[in-house]
Amino acid sequence: MSLSLSGQKVLVYGLAKSGVAALRLLRQHGAHVTALDARTEDALGEVGREVKSLGASLVTGPVPPGLLASQDLVVVSPGVPLALPEIEAARSAGVAVWGEVELASRFLTDVPLFGITGTNGKSTTTALTGELFLRGGRRTFVGGNLGRPFSEAALAPKAWDALVVELSSFQLEGIRTLRPRGAAILNLTPDHLDRYATHADYGAAKARIFQSQQAGDFAVVNADDADVLGLARAAKVPVYGFGMTGRPVADAPKLAGQAIAEEGGFRLDFLNEHYRLTNRALRGAHNAQNAMAATLLARLGGVPADAVQAGLDSYPGLPHRMESVRVLDGVEWVNDSKATNVDSVLVALRAFKGDLWLIAGGKGKGAPYAPMVEEGRGKVKGVLTIGQDADVLAKAYAGQAPVHACGTLDAAVKKAREVAKAGDTVLLSPACASYDQFKNFEDRGDTFKRLVGAL
Ligand code: ADP
Repeated sequence: MSLSLSGQKVLVYGLAKSGVAALRLLRQHGAHVTALDARTEDALGEVGREVKSLGASLVTGPVPPGLLASQDLVVVSPGVPLALPEIEAARSAGVAVWGEVELASRFLTDVPLFGITGTNGKSTTTALTGELFLRGGRRTFVGGNLGRPFSEAALAPKAWDALVVELSSFQLEGIRTLRPRGAAILNLTPDHLDRYATHADYGAAKARIFQSQQAGDFAVVNADDADVLGLARAAKVPVYGFGMTGRPVADAPKLAGQAIAEEGGFRLDFLNEHYRLTNRALRGAHNAQNAMAATLLARLGGVPADAVQAGLDSYPGLPHRMESVRVLDGVEWVNDSKATNVDSVLVALRAFKGDLWLIAGGKGKGAPYAPMVEEGRGKVKGVLTIGQDADVLAKAYAGQAPVHACGTLDAAVKKAREVAKAGDTVLLSPACASYDQFKNFEDRGDTFKRLVGAL
């Protein structure tokens, strides 16, 4: 490791979890650190005290002119846009500007990194890939945009045999030399158009994951997604595809191999291996895609096939994503509180054959509910509405499915207990944000689990 930060002036911009982890790492390496956050010291509370106790100086509120341009290095948290004028100015003045994951990667060049990005499924695929490497006996760091900040891995580089890292497009904007051994792009749908001028810009940010790859590395891409296949043309390494049919939907770069869905699981055509996918935590076509991506990363990363199969079987799932909570008198209760928009509800509805009682509603996002009404036709036996958007939902379902206006989650769970019969599923998949009635989607999901547990 040749990077020396000792005595260097480094500014950390943004003091959420990743920023604080970066600061800790920089202090470990003897840098003089200034920590900057737009919030007041009062609002920062405990974080401010922590920053000071780590021996960094704290600057809050408006950015003092010239502060960034006088540094040797600026490390930017993922929540802070790189396009801010003071960051641009620092760059023009010749100051190096790195994202937090770039900083971490500089201390971890000896450990193979498996990076995962995409619009949807990043967290699931990252957690699952981590499980497969752990099953393979590797000491594996799992984190990044999910769970622990990547800088935490860099605090003890020798502790790891593999790094499995979720990378958001914001994080990828801030990389320079970060080099994944295996880089996966799961899918690309319009998102974050508040921060990207066009869909192409958003794609370009994702494609940065390939930019520093070298001989011996590989790429994993969704062969069912034309946009992702387009991005894969930027890869200079062997590209592996995963898909439902084995026939890429668009002109693909030459694929070195494919994972292809089949009845009850999938196969890897280039190794002639078959995998079972019977784990309830991975039901649905979207999870089959996530599982294929994770399996490609793990197998090409050297995890043995039997360990991969064991990991696919034992993966516990992430909370709040089609999480099976309980089976009571033959009724399964599923917590999909993470589904805060209509697209996510569609994914959930597709994963079930039918006999569903859907609990939905909350703070709506203004998108039409018609697509979920359509997708649920013949599957949804009734809808139990909660929260602010209950009336809008009721209108969308009028004449399509019985609607019970419940108001609160508590009342919806009670109603569902009454109406659901053995063989049915009660699915909390709200299509809405939670802020009208809960702190966040986790709070909503935890409340659901508590209510269902008490039945
Ligand atoms: P992310 O970390 O990218 O937000 P998650 O794994 O947390 O992804 O999944 C979030 C939601 O996205 C899930 O609840 C599901 O509705 C949907 N989803 C998951 N995987 C996929 C996929 N491969 N394709 C499309 N949608 C998916």
